[in-house]
Amino acid sequence: MKPVIGITPSPLRDDAAHVTRERFALTTTYVAAVVASGAIPLILPPVPDDALQLLDRIDGLLLSGGADVDPARYGDAFIHATTYDVHPLRDAFEIDLLRSARARDLPTLCICRGIQVLNVALGGTLIQDIGDQLANPLTHRQQELGISADQPSHQVALGESVSLPGFEDQSFLMVNSYHHQAIRDLAPDLRVAARAADGVIEAVVLPGTSFIVGVQWHPEMMFHRHPEQAALFRGLTIASTANRTALAGR
Ligand code: MN
Repeated sequence: MKPVIGITPSPLRDDAAHVTRERFALTTTYVAAVVASGAIPLILPPVPDDALQLLDRIDGLLLSGGADVDPARYGDAFIHATTYDVHPLRDAFEIDLLRSARARDLPTLCICRGIQVLNVALGGTLIQDIGDQLANPLTHRQQELGISADQPSHQVALGESVSLPGFEDQSFLMVNSYHHQAIRDLAPDLRVAARAADGVIEAVVLPGTSFIVGVQWHPEMMFHRHPEQAALFRGLTIASTANRTALAGR
């Protein structure tokens, strides 16, 4: 039986002439990547009061990318001019999901905003704007370089403190990049698995868990043309299958 992987969507405000609608939207590439890895995706709209019950019904978790985390969540008293579309309900839901996923060792892959939420949920902080707050940064928004989303734009060095699951034999990896924020202070229990040349943390692992991993890039947009990126989803699905089997055996 395939494992079910819950994916968090993004709130999306949609201004029409007659009405403003808020939707919960998910880029289709996340679904495609989870399906290609052999799992069944299930989209999870934010319902913070029921995060625990939701976790009972899934075998793995995927936090998708999106807008910025509320700086108050990590103790910044200011909101940088570039910090955008803060959504406290999404923050609350995803932080609850992550803390509970950790407590029960639920396999979890956190992408882009997701690695930032993971860091904040476990006690870390964020750089609100790389371009403004980091000396000599790389271009982490590759749209400014005219590079398409399925292509990489910068390198990361792998294995600083721990291996990135699926890339144990590699020292470097080329990744795409669509972020203006990044991890500042790493949460005490996380370990760096990949770092860009300008010092930006690009992947983290929570040691002692079956598979709790965050990446700052978007493997779901790359895996068709760069199949090595599918290893992250394969890792999530394998761990989720093992989790499902373990629960069924109780
Ligand atoms: Mn980057």
